[in-house]
Amino acid sequence: MSSQTNADLIIFNIKQLLTVPHKPSGEEENDLLGLVEGAAIALSEGRIVFLGKEEEVRAQVNPSLIKLEIDAGGGVVTPCLMDCHTHLSGFPYGRADDFTARVYKDSDYANIARKGGGILTTVRETRACPEERLLSYGKRILNEFMRHGVGTIEGKSGYSLDASGELRQLKLLDQLDKSHPMSIFPTYLAHMVPPEKKEQRESYLTYIIHEILPQVLPFARGIDVFCDPIAFNREESLQILKAGTEKGLLASAHVDQTAPFQAVEALASSATSLSHLENISEEGIAQMKAQNTVGIVFPSCSFHLDLPFAPANRLLREGIDFALSTDWNPGSSPCSSLLFVAYLAAKKMKMPPAQIIRSLTLHPARALGLDQEIGHLGLGYKADLSIFQLDDWRDLITQCSNPPGVTVIKNGKTVWANDCLLK
Ligand SMILES: [Zn+2]
Repeated sequence: MSSQTNADLIIFNIKQLLTVPHKPSGEEENDLLGLVEGAAIALSEGRIVFLGKEEEVRAQVNPSLIKLEIDAGGGVVTPCLMDCHTHLSGFPYGRADDFTARVYKDSDYANIARKGGGILTTVRETRACPEERLLSYGKRILNEFMRHGVGTIEGKSGYSLDASGELRQLKLLDQLDKSHPMSIFPTYLAHMVPPEKKEQRESYLTYIIHEILPQVLPFARGIDVFCDPIAFNREESLQILKAGTEKGLLASAHVDQTAPFQAVEALASSATSLSHLENISEEGIAQMKAQNTVGIVFPSCSFHLDLPFAPANRLLREGIDFALSTDWNPGSSPCSSLLFVAYLAAKKMKMPPAQIIRSLTLHPARALGLDQEIGHLGLGYKADLSIFQLDDWRDLITQCSNPPGVTVIKNGKTVWANDCLLK
């Protein structure tokens, strides 16, 4: 029996297992998803040691060592969904004036921001909100993400704009990571020039690089900058990203969101991922392709602000990998359902269903540099997976935002089931 595999846990009775391979064997849906019907997965110490058809797994695994068997109930199993771009540490409300101005008075997002509303409203609210309240909001939002099958989320600071406030937000993300089974990837975001520094942009840039960055460094794994007519210009953004990457942070940027800004062209070679892309140019697409930069796009943000959608199918035709994300934040996308994002990607962007699943699992893992650990179900990978009580994986994109029954398993441990967080 020495050729048998040792495992301590088996997940069985999986109707459809989506392994989401790095290099699909073909262009058909089943190839893109690595679909196995009637499957099981064997784990040892939280990692995958064997997977495939259930009878093959049963034949391969040494039964005497198995301590636990989890019945997937004939459902669909995917790698845990992942959201690689959220503003999780911000105050989650306070933008009703912006909303009503946009919806009823025909104002727009950039104009509201120029008048001191928008992001700056959330800066004021976040600075004023006691820690305990921010923590309890954060936990509630994490629960909502998990209810929709998410196991890892990126969270940014960026609603304080000074060193102590940005540090406070990153410490909050650390506390959330330690107190909730959701894995959190923390990012320092250089979001805007504060109004009181409007006339001293250069000294604020120096302050970011020499004051904020060194202070937040122990709590950040990524750096992000908002490169936009209402925030930092291209040269400033480059300097910020360079300072962050020199300190070992993973670089990302918000680009070409509110207007065409040639930000992609300027930053594609300096960032692992670029977010938004609603106004990306032809040259920007060529640059992303040449640099193998991962895109991150936000259908729920376009929907919420009535802005153009990023050209998803164009990126796909060029072979550019991109993640779908909520961009969760109180102003431009107060949405914690990646399944709603999936639905919008189908409805509004006409993305092919299998590509939607890849953009919710493997591609966000690539954006965060985690794709050798999670985002795919294969030998040696972490057992971070979600079980959906569905007969057909395509119902992950058809349900508007209704979560089906979801079980989330992290490192081989069930952390969410029957609509509850398990302690
Ligand atoms: Zn964002």
